Amino acid sequence: MPRPRCLWCMEPPLQEVAVLKWRGEERDRITVQLCRKHLTRLKEAGPAGREHKGWFYKDGWW
Ligand SMILES: [Zn+2]
Repeated sequence: MPRPRCLWCMEPPLQEVAVLKWRGEERDRITVQLCRKHLTRLKEAGPAGREHKGWFYKDGWW
């Protein structure tokens, strides 16, 4: 089994979180594993979201 890791880096995840991933009109409601640092950054980004490789991510599905 591969070791779980953060969506955005090689760190072990702190927890699984529900995120909304969007680009233009596309919407994906997914759960992802994030490390402490990236979970904090996601929460700090708030409703504006955090951009990663052309997609935006925000905490929660709505
Ligand atoms: Zn990370």
